[in-house]
Amino acid sequence: MSELIDQIALVTGGTRGIGRAISQELAEAGSRVAIVDILEEAKSVAAELPGTGHGGFVCDVSNPAECSELIGRVEETLGPVTILVNNAGITRDNILVRLKDTDWDSVIDTNLSGPFYLVRAVARGMMKRRSGKIVNVSSVVGLTGNRGQSNYAAAKAGLIALTKSVAQELAARGVQANAVAPGFIATDLTSGLPEEVQRDMLDRIPAGRLGSPEDVAKVVRFLVGPGAAYVTGQVIVVDGGMVM
Ligand code: NDP
Repeated sequence: MSELIDQIALVTGGTRGIGRAISQELAEAGSRVAIVDILEEAKSVAAELPGTGHGGFVCDVSNPAECSELIGRVEETLGPVTILVNNAGITRDNILVRLKDTDWDSVIDTNLSGPFYLVRAVARGMMKRRSGKIVNVSSVVGLTGNRGQSNYAAAKAGLIALTKSVAQELAARGVQANAVAPGFIATDLTSGLPEEVQRDMLDRIPAGRLGSPEDVAKVVRFLVGPGAAYVTGQVIVVDGGMVM
């Protein structure tokens, strides 16, 4: 299928985990993909995607200057960004009373401010062209909160509010903004959790298994594709039924 032919998708945090699966899925759907990552591997991963015309770009999304410069670089190389997937994210978990200012700031800067810088940077072009798709990768903990993750949950909740606000501002200009809220997905981000935490999580998933990065990527593909043309401001939970 090539429902995303002629699209240029910018995917942050695209070298690993969920972002890599999203990049792969969108490339399979015919899109050219700009993989953006703090890691230099962005370039080699982009070169491995199916199809041609992809690119890898190094950028720290928590840095506003790097973000505005990034969009210029991507657009010069690949063309106007028609799909933005804000996927890059980090955790710095700790119970509230032990949470350092730097752990709060870095999680908010990467998981919430980064998406804001990039949405703002692509919005004008999308509005002018009267089309564009934005997907923000939030988390179920942005809906429920989570012990030991007050910084991360606050950032992910903020990302949902950002998504809904952007959806309201840009809908009349043909730009859609939606969020996905993954549950417990098997990636490097979660493999480091203690075994008892992983077992406890599994007990809470009615589907009886962890999600895969591909489970999330397929929902993103739907949201940026023609089948979701009338869907905006929504949060799609991808968690095997953990949060209902
Ligand atoms: P990974 O840690 O596996 O991958 C995240 C990628 O983002 C890495 O390549 C990472 O680079 C990159 N990245 C981190 N910080 C920045 C930055 N400042 N600028 C650019 N790139 C950066 O994470 P996942 O694939 O597990 O998660 C992807 C998204 O999904 C995140 O937003 C996460 O919060 C969300 N999510 C994940 C869940 C899960 O269970 N895995 C559940 C719910 C939501 P580096 O390796 O150098 O850090």
